[in-house]
Amino acid sequence: MSHTVELIAVGTELLLGNIANTDGQFLSQELSNLGLNVHYHSVVGDNPERLAQVVEQAKTRADIIITTGGLGPTYDDLTKTVLAGCFGKKLVMDDHSAARIRKFFDKVGRVMTENNLQQAMLPEGCVVLHNDWGTAPGCAFEAEGKHVIMLPGPPRECIPLFKKAVVPYLSKLSEGVILSHSLKVYGMGESAVETLLRERMNELHNPTLAPYAKLGEVELRITAKADTEEAAEDLIEPVENEVRAILGDLVYGRDEPSLESAVVKLLRIKGLTLGCAESCTGGLFAKRITDIPGSSPIFKGGVVSYCNEVKTNLLGVDAALLEEKGAVCPEVAQAMALGARKVLGTDLAISFTGVAGPGPDERGNQEGLVYIALASAEEVWVKKVLTIGRGERDRVRSSATSSGLDMVRRMVLGLKRD
Ligand code: ATP
Repeated sequence: MSHTVELIAVGTELLLGNIANTDGQFLSQELSNLGLNVHYHSVVGDNPERLAQVVEQAKTRADIIITTGGLGPTYDDLTKTVLAGCFGKKLVMDDHSAARIRKFFDKVGRVMTENNLQQAMLPEGCVVLHNDWGTAPGCAFEAEGKHVIMLPGPPRECIPLFKKAVVPYLSKLSEGVILSHSLKVYGMGESAVETLLRERMNELHNPTLAPYAKLGEVELRITAKADTEEAAEDLIEPVENEVRAILGDLVYGRDEPSLESAVVKLLRIKGLTLGCAESCTGGLFAKRITDIPGSSPIFKGGVVSYCNEVKTNLLGVDAALLEEKGAVCPEVAQAMALGARKVLGTDLAISFTGVAGPGPDERGNQEGLVYIALASAEEVWVKKVLTIGRGERDRVRSSATSSGLDMVRRMVLGLKRD
């Protein structure tokens, strides 16, 4: 199967920029994981004529049309009416969905207005996608050789409903199994990775190998199609080994959500604790680590020592050193890491001091210059990193904290350091 998909997001709020199309982002990622080709995204307001035009166009260029939004009870929730109309279908009351909606209101103790039952009006003969997270059911039908799937807009409904009901629906359209694994790479840019692997990427057809750049990282997705999952795994394995042989320890994980999750997992396995002292990163390192569920056994805490007084009073950084060299230097990074390790009582402590920008600091240190120090019982590793910030503080902070996470991984695993 090589189905093509068009995603249609319905909602004037999206067009006005009041909300971002995060459903589209999620669905695109998931669909490509399923081996489906998303060729177009369309966004259209709550306007029946324009939605109908977009649907008619989607019919000419996609096998699967997936809509989000516009399924609710309010007057502008028009997706089902328009889509049913475009495919010559009537909307009929689905008694089971109506009963579920009544039950939902009883459960939350709210009075149901009659327009809520409109949500149970569904295209005749459709597969109902029961929504356990809200009142508007989704639905799917096949007509004119196209598959049409409608999902509610709120991400807290759209995402679980997609996982629960749409993935099985789409899997049935496929003969055989499509399986993907992602190798996560840190420490080499996308174009350099691509240059190393280009020849192999062009040669490979099953599995395919494709790179995706993500915030200073590269994801290499290997996708195989086979009769069974085992057979797909067998196709993926040699390609994965080949990529690992080429990229070595730049690969930090397989199907690993992020560098921080890899680091948390690693520290848990090794039974090590971590703390941090952050100046220019303002707590981002601590945030990234604590975003990972299950980080509490390894992460004790952090000090956001933004001004020099705090560096001295809480972390014991020598005031004379700060006076002489300023906060942005390797010696201060080292003293911060040692101080954090001591006050937090951790096996490892990492520090960040640098210039988030925009522009240089008062001592002329360039924007994007960050010193990172990682202290263990045996040593302190200090690294200088330079991110071209372009006036974006987030970019500098994010890149510095990624470097720091990679340093933790390298020190704990005894990998080479640059
Ligand atoms: P409801 O039952 O809540 O009316 P619905 O399917 O009718 O659901 P909409 O009314 O179109 O959905 O949107 C409801 C809310 O869902 C929006 O206000 C917005 O917060 C969120 N939402 C809608 N579409 C998207 C999208 N594509 N990405 C992210 N959020 C969205």
